[in-house]
Amino acid sequence: MAKMRACRACHYLTTENMCPNCKSTNLSTSYTGIVVVLPGRKKGEDPRKGSYVASRLNIEKPGKYALKVR
Ligand SMILES: [Zn+2]
Repeated sequence: MAKMRACRACHYLTTENMCPNCKSTNLSTSYTGIVVVLPGRKKGEDPRKGSYVASRLNIEKPGKYALKVR
């Protein structure tokens, strides 16, 4: 499995050279903790509505995110 990198802008975890979430290329290999945000029951539902973690981290799209990015 390829090493994942975390986007410094939105904390999204990706194996690509560009963040697919916010199109930033400011990626870091140094991060701690992984948060997986699952899709809501309804399609396209904002995860911040149903998830305390998603609302705290201000995550609007389901996916894998780093808790802390250095
Ligand atoms: Zn990003």
